[in-house]
Amino acid sequence: MTRPDQSSELTLVFDEPVQKKKPPRHLADFSPEERRAFAQELGLPAFRANQVANHYFTHLSTDPQMWSDIPADKRQEFADKFTPQLIESVRSVTCDAGMTRKDLWRLHDGVLVESVLMRYTDRTTVCISSQAGCGMNCPFCATGQAGLTRNLTAGEITEQIVAAARACAYGELPGGPTRLSNIVFMGMGEPMANFNAVMRTLRNITDPIPDGLGISARSVTVSTVGLVNGIEKLMAEGLPVTLAVSLHTPDDELRDTLVPINSRWKVKEVLIAADAYEQKTGRRYSIEYALIRDINDQTWRADLLGRLLKNRNAHVNLIPLNPTPGSKWTASRPEDEAEFVRILESYGVPTTVRDTRGREIDGACGQLAAAET
Ligand code: SAH
Repeated sequence: MTRPDQSSELTLVFDEPVQKKKPPRHLADFSPEERRAFAQELGLPAFRANQVANHYFTHLSTDPQMWSDIPADKRQEFADKFTPQLIESVRSVTCDAGMTRKDLWRLHDGVLVESVLMRYTDRTTVCISSQAGCGMNCPFCATGQAGLTRNLTAGEITEQIVAAARACAYGELPGGPTRLSNIVFMGMGEPMANFNAVMRTLRNITDPIPDGLGISARSVTVSTVGLVNGIEKLMAEGLPVTLAVSLHTPDDELRDTLVPINSRWKVKEVLIAADAYEQKTGRRYSIEYALIRDINDQTWRADLLGRLLKNRNAHVNLIPLNPTPGSKWTASRPEDEAEFVRILESYGVPTTVRDTRGREIDGACGQLAAAET
């Protein structure tokens, strides 16, 4: 029997899952140049793609009858061709007096994904999914337990963001109309394992209108388990989005269990890649750390993390564990959490404890599993 070499192992992890039936093509799948070529392929002049992109990204329009720069008898046809509906709302649930809203979406093939919209006093953030399910298998994460169903297309990821931008613009959240200000790739999936679609989405977010939403890269956070090749590719793109690394423990021994891809890229390698990213973009990165009672919340681990990070341009985001159904793990005791923060701060490491918006609606970190139909 031949032993699988490293490259075939990687192939197993990163290969695109087989898609039974591809979603309809959407202008958000393409770069602005490709959109024009797409128009021509549909037998239309290239500028029609720009017009529809403008209605989609600038006006967040869902009603083609308002597209007065397009002949009335062509509007619906163009809408269907360039912007077919890729996500259909199954249901929305709210909490925090309506300021947090979780949306469950059905894709063309019946697959379900979720996004969460959160309005704060100074900003409104959407947390989106980049994959249906996830292949990274982190044992404390609800999405990880279900495995990977498939990658989302750039259109399907972008549609979650445009839907959130519309909800903001149309005043669907209490407090009246507002602007979607922040986007975090912290819903279902591992963004770096769906790199091309995520990259196209990042361009759709940051390209100035009418080609994209015109939201600053600084308002976007991409969270990863630490796929070093992905961090390096993102760095090469030169788009200064904020990087978040899900570390969860400073030692390889425990991390091999909590974040199984650690068997491929160790803590030090991940931090070196994040440092390089920080140097190139000038963006301080985040270390995500879910505090799990008696598993990774000991004072010696806080010390080790403090020593690892004290000379790095990183800040730590502690997340009280949201226990997943059937899990024996739970959140840290308040006194242990406070001590963890104190120790990190004693090393001068900026530390925050994430607020757990959406907990009651299973919309908090690691709870997005879309198990229901
Ligand atoms: N795959 C990406 C995005 C996942 S979700 C990543 O791993 O970074 C965003 C964050 O929520 C990650 O840091 C993830 O580890 C964390 N998370 C997952 N399950 C959780 C849970 N049950 N409680 C608290 N945080 C959790």
